[in-house]
Amino acid sequence: MQITIRDDIESRYVGRITTGHISAYDASWVAVLRLLAGRTLEIDTKFLFRDQLNTEGLPADEVESLLATLPETVSDKCRERCHGALTKGIRAMYWMHTGVDGDVRPTRKLCRWCHHHSDKSAGACGNCGKTDHFETLS
Ligand SMILES: [Zn+2]
Repeated sequence: MQITIRDDIESRYVGRITTGHISAYDASWVAVLRLLAGRTLEIDTKFLFRDQLNTEGLPADEVESLLATLPETVSDKCRERCHGALTKGIRAMYWMHTGVDGDVRPTRKLCRWCHHHSDKSAGACGNCGKTDHFETLS
């Protein structure tokens, strides 16, 4: 199960500040997002949320080569934050990636009519009310 971080992640981040979804510009976090833009990341499937997913950390050699691309002007504190995020993984919100590849969720159903996700085992879709369009993600 993987996601690919959007190429335009930085401008999307700035856009979410403009619309009030994010309260303040975080330069260290932007540095992390720049390093991850366009990259495909494995998902930590221990906890699968509807609108956000935790990614697995990258191998140490990949982390080091990404950190080597940071400009000289980047502070040690920012480098530390980038190292932590790349090593441990990040919480990726739905607007940060292009979609989930290989989404497998045995307890989760997808309504093929309206694309609403539900953890209900049966019954009507909580969004559109249709009863015959649920499909297990497995
Ligand atoms: Zn539905």
